[in-house]
Amino acid sequence: MKYVGAHTSASGGVFNAISHAQEIGAKAFALFTKNQRRWDAKPLDTKTIDTFKKRLEDSGILPRHILPHDSYLINLGHPDDEKRAKSMEAFLDEVQRCELLGLDRLNFHPGSHLKEISEDECLGRIAEAMNRTLEKTSGVSLVLENTAGQGSNLGWKFEHLAHIIDKVEDKSRVGVCIDTCHMFTAGYDIRTREAYDVTMAQFENIVGFKYLKGMHINDSKPDLGSHVDRHDSIGKGKIGIDAFRFIMNDERMDDIPLILETIDESIWAQEIKLLYSLMD
Ligand SMILES: [Zn+2]
Ligand SMILES: [Zn+2]
Repeated sequence: MKYVGAHTSASGGVFNAISHAQEIGAKAFALFTKNQRRWDAKPLDTKTIDTFKKRLEDSGILPRHILPHDSYLINLGHPDDEKRAKSMEAFLDEVQRCELLGLDRLNFHPGSHLKEISEDECLGRIAEAMNRTLEKTSGVSLVLENTAGQGSNLGWKFEHLAHIIDKVEDKSRVGVCIDTCHMFTAGYDIRTREAYDVTMAQFENIVGFKYLKGMHINDSKPDLGSHVDRHDSIGKGKIGIDAFRFIMNDERMDDIPLILETIDESIWAQEIKLLYSLMD
């Protein structure tokens, strides 16, 4: 079974993300559990948590098909100790919010070295921050998202993700989210059957599909290997529709949230239908 949805708005309350998902016929969704552009957030109150859980149960959407995303400000690999500590504090809060909402995974961008430390040192810092967060929490997996490799962002090479996973002590609580746009602009082609098979075999060999806990389903405005992060609507960008047909017919993508982060949310309902129509 495929579980396709979109990153819906939680403005006005986290529970609103559920109704927005239902409105577009989604079987999965992603959300921010707080304002993604701010450090601080009001703690989740009991009423909000209860409403979220009740509406989620009514919707029939399961926690494992929900992929919350953390704040864009967090950089667990920050070269500066004080700034990294601030990121770790905010990250812990994000994981705890997931715990409170009964969610089992949190999607995040690994981090950036800001050209001040080596790649290896930055990857080590990220893994260490994850270990410390895992010690203080339970039931939530930390899901590393591959990046386009824009600026000094790490995580665009499968080797970066594998390097971090290798250093995480509790491997049962670490996962990966593949963003198709990021993967493509990082240099991994998926446009033809042959290219798709080669890229996915690389992912299996270097990271492993057992870690795949979600995907971001986006077409790409920029070209292969451009390292630029700009999403496009499905079938309208440089990746093209075939890659999405391969994904929708690939059993390795069963039972995980497949989340649209495409640019025109007014056509999300159509894009979800389109993706399901690609299944053989
Ligand atoms: Zn993404
Ligand atoms: Zn992106």
